[in-house]
Amino acid sequence: MNEHILDIRRLKKYYPVKGGVFKKHIADVKAVDDLDLTIRKGECLGLVGESGCGKTTLGKTILRLHEATEGRIYYNQSAEEVDRIEGLLDSGDKTKIAEARQLLQQVDLTKMSGKDLLKLRRKIQIVFQDPSNSLNPRMLVKKIIAEPLYVQGVYSAREIEERVLNLLNTVGMAKEHMMRYPHEFSGGQRQRIAVARALATNPDFVLMDEPTSALDVSVQSQILNLLMQLQKDFSLTYLFVTHHLLVVKYISNRIAVMYLGKMVELGATAGIFKNPLHPYTKALLSAIPIPDPASERQRIILTGDVPNPINPPKGCRFHPRCSWAVDRCREEIPVLEEAEKEHFVACHRWKEIS
Ligand code: SF4
Repeated sequence: MNEHILDIRRLKKYYPVKGGVFKKHIADVKAVDDLDLTIRKGECLGLVGESGCGKTTLGKTILRLHEATEGRIYYNQSAEEVDRIEGLLDSGDKTKIAEARQLLQQVDLTKMSGKDLLKLRRKIQIVFQDPSNSLNPRMLVKKIIAEPLYVQGVYSAREIEERVLNLLNTVGMAKEHMMRYPHEFSGGQRQRIAVARALATNPDFVLMDEPTSALDVSVQSQILNLLMQLQKDFSLTYLFVTHHLLVVKYISNRIAVMYLGKMVELGATAGIFKNPLHPYTKALLSAIPIPDPASERQRIILTGDVPNPINPPKGCRFHPRCSWAVDRCREEIPVLEEAEKEHFVACHRWKEIS
């Protein structure tokens, strides 16, 4: 469980902003900024935060749907090997840095190309939020699920048909569904088809990008249970992006909280729900309704909006909205530190306010 499938180091994803008559590069939207994160094999890591915090950008950069601006995403490497390469990069020695760059071509998924990238695309998959948009309305279900297999070009027509049927059964659908179009299904069934397509290439990592948000409440739990079962059956690792905290509580082993492109808290789900350390996490959790009228938990209301990521606040990015902010917070960026065993927080004052 503690082996890493992804080791993200100092990742940046900036989107250039162009302006003026000559459309010159005038600024950057810093969607993900200097972010470190480790995803363990076989876990479901819940990634939470408000809209615009960078969680979807992070997921899409991992999948190479967007190209990273800077940083590294090690795929399937031991912690020792990652530290060794990072050490070479930080050595200041030109020969060692060149050696590290050479190694990164094979192990850093932001640099992979050719056959390595093709292989990677089979092993990391995505399930999008809204299956109505992610499934081609003109394709039969059979073709939608089979498409990633055709791309590989190694299966016969019969093998593909058998695989499609198998996948449909796996997600709780039947043979007769193969020859229908997406619009003939309910939202929940469409999401099952999208999951079957994601599993077609035997991935080991699946990015779940708000996979239940577009569904009726009545089918959300069925899809969540299906995803949990599939994770167990196929030893999958999930990065589960959502803004729905009760969903992550139900499905995730660990939770990562993002705010304005930065990781602010990371830890085991039970630990974060029991003892959130960062003021932002405290505010998010305080907004979850408790089905007990006698409960006296106080809701923390965040004032103001998430600041503009083109020009994020100096120091701690949360300081304009934080009621514990002091001068140091306005100057110095807090680093993610281990506050309790395997529970990390980026806040100068976590000891005083926890
Ligand atoms: Fe609030 Fe300061 Fe902690 Fe940022 S570093 S969350 S501003 S107390």
